[in-house]
Amino acid sequence: MSQDLVTFLNARLDEEADLARRCGGCGEWAAQGHTVDFCQGELAGFHPTVALHVALHDPARVLREIEAKRRVLARHEFSPAIGDPELPWDNRDDCQYDGEPGPCDDVLDLALPYADHPDYPRRP
Ligand SMILES: [Zn+2]
Repeated sequence: MSQDLVTFLNARLDEEADLARRCGGCGEWAAQGHTVDFCQGELAGFHPTVALHVALHDPARVLREIEAKRRVLARHEFSPAIGDPELPWDNRDDCQYDGEPGPCDDVLDLALPYADHPDYPRRP
């Protein structure tokens, strides 16, 4: 499951980054009362709290968040038991960051928002 989960997570991050890139490139989104300024136009009729929430998901911010998640994921790369220079200490696939058997808690937490996705890897 470890590598399946990483592959799955990278696919979701790729999708979100692609979508954010297609929505961005013009500046910051901003909320003003019931209106969200998408910098290419405005859309009114939101509850002010919803407008703030939408503006918070500005594509530039989403892309920064995705890059941060990719760096966390890279730190938690799995060290396969086969070819692991640390053998014979632990004959298992484990996280290079925390030594936990994969997937470690941090990778599981990164994947949690996508748990309802139909391709989410399930434990056998
Ligand atoms: Zn880890």
